[in-house]
Amino acid sequence: MTDTQPNKSSEPIIKIVGMHKWYGDFHVLSDINLEVQEGERIVICGPSGSGKSTMIRCINRLEEHQQGQIIVNGTELTNDIKNIETVRAEVGMVFQHFNLFPHLTILENLTLGQIWVRKTPKKQAEETAMMYLEKVKIAEQAKKFPGQLSGGQQQRVAIARSLCMAPEVMLFDEPTSALDPEMIKEVLDVMIDLAEEGMTMLVVTHEMGFAKSVADRVMFMDAGQIVEQNNPHDFFDNPQHERTKLFLSQIL
Ligand code: ADP
Ligand code: MG
Repeated sequence: MTDTQPNKSSEPIIKIVGMHKWYGDFHVLSDINLEVQEGERIVICGPSGSGKSTMIRCINRLEEHQQGQIIVNGTELTNDIKNIETVRAEVGMVFQHFNLFPHLTILENLTLGQIWVRKTPKKQAEETAMMYLEKVKIAEQAKKFPGQLSGGQQQRVAIARSLCMAPEVMLFDEPTSALDPEMIKEVLDVMIDLAEEGMTMLVVTHEMGFAKSVADRVMFMDAGQIVEQNNPHDFFDNPQHERTKLFLSQIL
């Protein structure tokens, strides 16, 4: 590669520059700057109401920002619907409440987007679905409905459903916080596998064990700002800001 060629691999897959968002008069996100490299695993923590969900929802335009730039894999999020669709095709999202379609089987939940959005033939979509259900160790439940599964199983289905769309980046918004304690590990194990395979991940969670073992970077948000970020070792052992210290003292 010569100097004149852009080195695409060093371009951040997500770039947020001077981003602000308001809900009406309420300034919910203030001057957010963030670069995420391909393959990076970022954990975002912070008190309830600090803007964590809003920030990651802006990355696939579930929420609209009013100022600054959000660029995902080279595509800037603007009002242009084509750009929004391009970004959404590259970004998978897993929510606290699994958001599966209750009237569809597990298999149908996984094939729906492939068939209708990606125009994948049904048989191929089912093969892909079964491959990811195997991966999250739940293939035997394919013909059941979401309500027949435990919360941990439903969340693994939700992760498999996202993976069926072959995302470049996965966003997780408190994926284990609605689960009974005994089910948290089975979901975290799936996320650890994904991380080990090199998936770029932004994870909002208060599972600090996960943050310590998986994250390349831990980020603390408060009152709509990124207050500090660091590698997990320094973040936990040597937090710089009083607000971070207070937060960590409350959850650890
Ligand atoms: P977190 O995920 O860190 O708990 P959120 O991003 O959900 O925080 O919310 C940040 C702030 O924005 C909170 O004060 C919340 O009440 C407010 N908020 C969230 N969604 C909306 C909305 N759709 N309209 C108005 N205010 C909202
Ligand atoms: Mg939230």
